[in-house]
Amino acid sequence: MTQRPPVSILLAAPRGFCAGVDRAILMVERAIEKYGAPVFVRHEIVHNRHVVEELERKGAVFVEELDEISDPSRPVIFSAHGVPKSVPADAEQRGMFYLDATCPLVSKVHVEANRHFEEGRHILMIGHEGHPEVEGTLGQLPDGAITLIETVGDANSVTPPDPQNLAYVTQTTLSLDDTLAVVETLKKRFPAIRGPHKNDICYATTNRQAAVKAIAESCDTLFVVGAPNSSNSVRLVEVAEKAGCTTAQLVQKASEVDWTALETAVAARNGGRFVVGLTAGASAPESLVQGVIDEISRRFAVTTEEVTVSSEDVIFKLPKQLIAS
Ligand code: SF4
Repeated sequence: MTQRPPVSILLAAPRGFCAGVDRAILMVERAIEKYGAPVFVRHEIVHNRHVVEELERKGAVFVEELDEISDPSRPVIFSAHGVPKSVPADAEQRGMFYLDATCPLVSKVHVEANRHFEEGRHILMIGHEGHPEVEGTLGQLPDGAITLIETVGDANSVTPPDPQNLAYVTQTTLSLDDTLAVVETLKKRFPAIRGPHKNDICYATTNRQAAVKAIAESCDTLFVVGAPNSSNSVRLVEVAEKAGCTTAQLVQKASEVDWTALETAVAARNGGRFVVGLTAGASAPESLVQGVIDEISRRFAVTTEEVTVSSEDVIFKLPKQLIAS
């Protein structure tokens, strides 16, 4: 029998599910248990097809807008990304029972934006146009109250109504380094700008980026398990590339890995050590990471090492309606 070529797997930790995602998924499961199926969910509860399909099997029905809901007497849950204020208002007008799975760390940004607005400041939001979290935050305030800033270029060209009365907030899942550059540009141009201590990037995004940075340089290739519409997963690929692994790529599951390319790259080592890095975005379940490990293990003689940069013990409480009594 021919010997399988050696591959070392470096597992980044923390990786995968965060407290906001855990809570949102649990909310859908508990709502189905308590109210029966179907329970409607506005937008993918978290950005992961696997999670969505699992919940669909249990009785969740996903829609993009409230008017797609076929039975308005059923409960509807809003996704972890947050929603514009018009959405709960619309649900109330339609007489719907809704539960809001917005991550408390996104809600915190909504509170900040509201406070700045009430204190008369124009707000610059650093984020990606079209992402549901950004739509949700922009929709907390009247049109024109927030200007979206995506890049350092935008920060250099923005012309706010009153530079002395200005604040910034950020999306929670951005690249820390890219955001720092935008914030520094804004602070240089508008020294009076108010904002959070550093940014609003959440603990989970911060820790996953730190973990991928810690392994990137040592990896010959690196897989980020996550969805293309998952902001924090896409950022992990960018962070890995910038930290020294130019072959980092996003895969939704093991079957998306180009196994032929990997086998060719490993074979080219002629028995020398080949290192595969592995991490997962905050909405990707560990079972999908394990699926990639299993497939690598089928093909190669694998040793696995976990590189842990921090531990996490954050838990967000469920809304009172869903706490079992
Ligand atoms: Fe909340 Fe951060 Fe998770 Fe988003 S990535 S759900 S902000 S903890």
